[in-house]
Amino acid sequence: MTEHSPNVAIIGAGPAGLMAAEILSDAGYAVSLYEAMPSPARKFLMAGKSGLNITNMREGEAFTSRFPSVAPMLKTALGEFGPAAIAEWMRALGVEATIGPTGRVFPVQMKASPLLRAWLARLQSHGVQLHTRHRWAGWSDDFDMIFDTPEGPISVQSDTQIFALGGGSWKRLGSDGSWPSVFAERGIHTEPFRPSNCGFIVDWSDRVRTEFVGTPVKNVAVRFGDQTSREEFVVTDRGVESGAIFTLSLAVRDRVENNGKATLEIDLAPDLSEEALVSRLKQDRGKQSLSNHLRKAANLKGVKRALLLEFGGLDVSNEPERLARLIKCLPIPLAKPFPLDEAISTAGGVSFDVLDDQFMVKEQPGMFCAGEMLDWDAPTGGYLLTACMATGRAAGLGAVRWLRSQV
Ligand SMILES: Cc1cc2nc3c(=O)[nH]c(=O)nc-3n(C[C@H](O)[C@H](O)[C@H](O)COP(=O)(O)OP(=O)(O)OC[C@H]3O[C@@H](n4cnc5c(N)ncnc54)[C@H](O)[C@@H]3O)c2cc1C
Repeated sequence: MTEHSPNVAIIGAGPAGLMAAEILSDAGYAVSLYEAMPSPARKFLMAGKSGLNITNMREGEAFTSRFPSVAPMLKTALGEFGPAAIAEWMRALGVEATIGPTGRVFPVQMKASPLLRAWLARLQSHGVQLHTRHRWAGWSDDFDMIFDTPEGPISVQSDTQIFALGGGSWKRLGSDGSWPSVFAERGIHTEPFRPSNCGFIVDWSDRVRTEFVGTPVKNVAVRFGDQTSREEFVVTDRGVESGAIFTLSLAVRDRVENNGKATLEIDLAPDLSEEALVSRLKQDRGKQSLSNHLRKAANLKGVKRALLLEFGGLDVSNEPERLARLIKCLPIPLAKPFPLDEAISTAGGVSFDVLDDQFMVKEQPGMFCAGEMLDWDAPTGGYLLTACMATGRAAGLGAVRWLRSQV
């Protein structure tokens, strides 16, 4: 069965696809938005559960320098729709921005749902047709799109196709990462997915596993290579995650991929110099236990003390210099990342080499790609959503130009 052919088909109703829909509907095109799940933007809503960090105060080079590598067209897209533009765009939807610590930007309500509601209402008022439970399954020989729907498979023709299918993690929210094999059949090169902003396995002793799972490790400085994070992190049954671990995870992942392991350094007393710590630790311990001594001298207790014993060993208890060194520079050996599906985002996907500077697949005129399905990488801090929306906008503008060039 062949359905009525819309002018523009956008596949994937996450932030990248919604932004492309906004651009094309604003330009007067009839837009059909196809979404596999029963409702749109489930990952966007999930992101809002812990505070929707939609962008970051850093502008220009300070913003793009947080991407490990940034293709020129991504840099242009971020320059044209960066933090200030996103705050302005939110305001136009009736949602004010608020700036959190370290320059992270959130909607004032922190949640994603008020923003998403306003966004969907605007798209609907611009005539965007949302087709949920439409899972794109591939193309026919004529390059028509095939969708699996509750009523069975349908085939859809359109003048242009914009794909915004997301990355390869959190499958239950819709981005199941199954599309690269279909793209490969069409000769569209993709890089394998890699976990980003992820936790890492640590071989904990039973003691840590039974007593400290779920415990945040606060007021530390976590170092890897030349990067340091003052964020807290969380001990889990399998390892470490959140905050500082996510921030450093891109570099840690690269090291693990190359060397099979990586070692973090943790400063458990970042507000004390090593010299001050040595002199405190040298004070007569009397009959105090090591626990009390560490608590009084360095405010080390609970999970921080457990980490020191786990990786520093007890043999250092009588050597203040060595103990101070360990407190300031405790090595934590990490094994591989947590499974891909648990990562906040994934690198890999459609290589920029296969796209022209309008985000159109060079070998497939009229087909565009945007969002996390492109092969870029970024830390948490608002960079991910900004890049998704900026590339959705750029692909939408590219499609407008291409459609205009076809008449
Ligand atoms: C827990 C969590 C918290 C996060 N917090 C933040 C944050 O605070 N700040 C930040 O910047 N980023 C955050 N992120 C990352 C951010 O949410 C994603 O990078 C972003 O949603 C990706 O947008 P996208 O539109 O490219 O893809 P997605 O949001 O994944 O949307 C892709 C859409 O395509 C649909 N789809 C997939 N395959 C098909 C198909 N075959 N047919 C039809 N539809 C299909 C999916 O169902 C989905 O709706 C978070 C992620 C997670 C998991």
